[in-house]
Amino acid sequence: MRRQRKTGARTTSQGPSVKVMLGIVFLLVVACVAEGNYFYREITGPVPSDADTLANRKGVIYWHGDPHRKTVALTFDDGPSAPYTTKILSILKANDVKATFFFLGDRVEASPELARAVVEDGHAIGNHTYDHPSLVLESASSVRAQLRRAENAIIAATGVRPKFFRPPYGAADSFTLDEARRLGYVAIEWSNSSKDWLRPGANAIADRVLRQVKNGSIILLHDGGGDRSQTVAAVTKLIPELKRRGFEFVTVPEMLDIPATF
Ligand SMILES: [Zn+2]
Repeated sequence: MRRQRKTGARTTSQGPSVKVMLGIVFLLVVACVAEGNYFYREITGPVPSDADTLANRKGVIYWHGDPHRKTVALTFDDGPSAPYTTKILSILKANDVKATFFFLGDRVEASPELARAVVEDGHAIGNHTYDHPSLVLESASSVRAQLRRAENAIIAATGVRPKFFRPPYGAADSFTLDEARRLGYVAIEWSNSSKDWLRPGANAIADRVLRQVKNGSIILLHDGGGDRSQTVAAVTKLIPELKRRGFEFVTVPEMLDIPATF
């Protein structure tokens, strides 16, 4: 009787403590991954407004351009996507502005003619993976496969092999960057997030960008991944206002003085 009770007591006291310890270890691992990988940059706010002051790592990862030059780079992610890419191209053309588009491989396969139109209009393009996983959660072979598969789709559609890639959600750690570098890629983040994916209205998107804009801002916008009509309207307002303030529009390769393609 005594022995039974003792055994019972040991079982109930050990069970929860092991679970608690495993829980703590799990939380520590999650905290390390989140801290080391900027995992929450795009998904949950606020996007750090100090990305303008983060140090670029030459040939590896860039957040912004030269703070002494009054230039900005518009970047569009998650496309190409009808009808938004086409609408954005016509706004850019009407304003004589060149931008940078980070394509998803599966979107390029779905609309190769849109990808071609972007290149034919003289814009820079980059690789945004095949189907938008968070690369920090992927194995080395999966990171490489995501980049290669997108690259093949982009080359097939446009004849261009991009030098730049943008990690989905901005999530990149040294492991991801090393794998990308082995394939010759340079990572491009951003310093000015429009948060257009929240669809707060065209005015709110434009105001947010204008409030944050600095010399060398790399501005994050989206031409794919859902209804982007607010982004289209915001860009229509943004471009003339940025010009009025004296900013020059450049592509990311122009801003960083790195060739866009191989
Ligand atoms: Zn994206």
